[in-house]
Amino acid sequence: METLTVTGVSKTFGGPRPAIADLSFTLGGGEFGVVVGPSGAGKTTLLNMIAGLVSPDTGEITLNGGSLAAVVPERRDIAMVFENYALYPHLSVRRNLEFPLRAPVRRGQLSRSQIAARVAEVAETLRIPHLLDRLPSQLSGGQRQRVSLGRALVRRPRLLLLDEPITHLDAKLRHEMRTELKRIQRELGVTTLYATPDQSDALALADLVVVLDAGRAWQVGSAADVYERPANVTVARTLGDPRINLLQGRRDATGVTVLGQRFDAGQGPPGPVTVGIRPGDVELSTQPVLGAVAGRVLLSQTLGYQDVVYVDVAGATVRATAPAGIAARPGSPAWVRLPAARLHVFETATGRALR
Ligand code: ATP
Repeated sequence: METLTVTGVSKTFGGPRPAIADLSFTLGGGEFGVVVGPSGAGKTTLLNMIAGLVSPDTGEITLNGGSLAAVVPERRDIAMVFENYALYPHLSVRRNLEFPLRAPVRRGQLSRSQIAARVAEVAETLRIPHLLDRLPSQLSGGQRQRVSLGRALVRRPRLLLLDEPITHLDAKLRHEMRTELKRIQRELGVTTLYATPDQSDALALADLVVVLDAGRAWQVGSAADVYERPANVTVARTLGDPRINLLQGRRDATGVTVLGQRFDAGQGPPGPVTVGIRPGDVELSTQPVLGAVAGRVLLSQTLGYQDVVYVDVAGATVRATAPAGIAARPGSPAWVRLPAARLHVFETATGRALR
């Protein structure tokens, strides 16, 4: 199991700002890391640098302590799977899976029977033995994705890089493939780094999350760390669906005022703050409640198992989740309570978490 370290890596392509800026993190052996960030955040650039397809301007990338700087891509033993699975259309699934092993065979490192064993093993892990004699055109999107993953795994790489491998699949299949990926990764114990714009992938899969935006790592930590204890507003906004509420507030010497309510927050520097609260943490009622502020329902969306209700409170819009079927019609009154323990307080000027 291979530990990946990225230390102070930067890359600028000639544009005004770097694609990757002073990025550092360590992914432990056998761990599943997820790099999450919007389009243009620098995810592909990062993966390309690890694979050796793009060279960093500064910094160092190591695998089990050994620098990769002088190692050409073919010698890195790193497999990369892209969103658009490039399978050979005229070759059967079996031949597609054998393809990456041609070089070791030529070098005399693998025999014919060893190849057959490898292919059978990977097909078993991916649950595709019944598809081995089909052509790629005879496969569904999810099956094709499995085959391209198999092609990456058959070489037994030291590191597996996945670049948005499932974003184009439909929602149900995506969910299924995500569960499968986690199972396969666990079974094989291969250190994996997965890039995605989908925050739910990060929360569902990751041992380690790297929140990337504008080339910078805004936080590196476990899924619980980045979700429960976001280090700044960017991280708070990236993770969670429906999105966290970010409300304007003020901090005095010992507390925070938001939506006209004051909460004790210990000693701290006074000034404008941004108060974050997740929609699931907002307590919503259609009746007056002690300690709640009154507002008016703007809109209610149902997600089936729950509703997302948008409430106007003194000019601010608050999103709250509520049990499905709550009688929250647009224009009707609603009461909102913010539990003090669930508030995230950020300094407005810098976006940094204050507690
Ligand atoms: P997406 O999810 O859309 O693929 P991403 O997070 O993978 O986005 P990158 O593809 O790494 O982002 O791009 C990061 C930034 O670097 C972007 O501003 C992009 O335009 C720029 N960039 C990437 N590759 C090159 C290149 N070869 N030449 C010039 N600019 C590039």
